[in-house]
Amino acid sequence: MEYQGYVHVYTGNGKGKTTAALGLLLRASGAGMTVFLGQFLKRGEYSEHSALALLPGVTVEAFGGERRVGAPLTEQDSAHARGGLECLRDAVSSGKWDLVIADEIFVAVHLGLLAETDVLELLEVRRPSTELVLTGRYAFPEILRRADLVTEMKEMRHYFSRGVPARKGIEK
Ligand code: ATP
Ligand code: MG
Repeated sequence: MEYQGYVHVYTGNGKGKTTAALGLLLRASGAGMTVFLGQFLKRGEYSEHSALALLPGVTVEAFGGERRVGAPLTEQDSAHARGGLECLRDAVSSGKWDLVIADEIFVAVHLGLLAETDVLELLEVRRPSTELVLTGRYAFPEILRRADLVTEMKEMRHYFSRGVPARKGIEK
């Protein structure tokens, strides 16, 4: 019988969604699994990228382009997100990857760069043996119904509200 993979959602407004996905990636790599990490709205500037490059079986692509956080959205942002989606569609359907992570995909939907149906389609084309992890604030109701595992990171306190910006090695 073929190995059964599942669909995970890590959402909510507390810290830990991307780090949970990276932790799973580390475990999977250690187990000899192949991993594809696709990141929406990010470029290669995150500290994890230099460490991920050292891990066996792991491929990372950041689909963010040159966009700055808070800047108005452009046609180019839309094109980057669509390119990322295309890439993930291939990744989940190819059978090449044991674990595929779509980081911040729900934020891309929230911003209107992708449609909810684009995300649901990833579930449709996914090979049953491929584990799929979707992260980001604002997961929408239908994906919460369809995922096999849903974790909500609930903010109880965050130093961000005291004015502490994202720090290298901790948030970025
Ligand atoms: P991490 O990457 O640390 O696991 P995350 O993926 O759960 O965090 P995101 O929603 O992707 O969190 O947002 C991360 C950015 O938003 C950080 O740079 C952080 O400074 C800022 N931020 C503001 N409030 C929060 C909060 N309550 N939880 C997490 N991040 C927050
Ligand atoms: Mg995140």
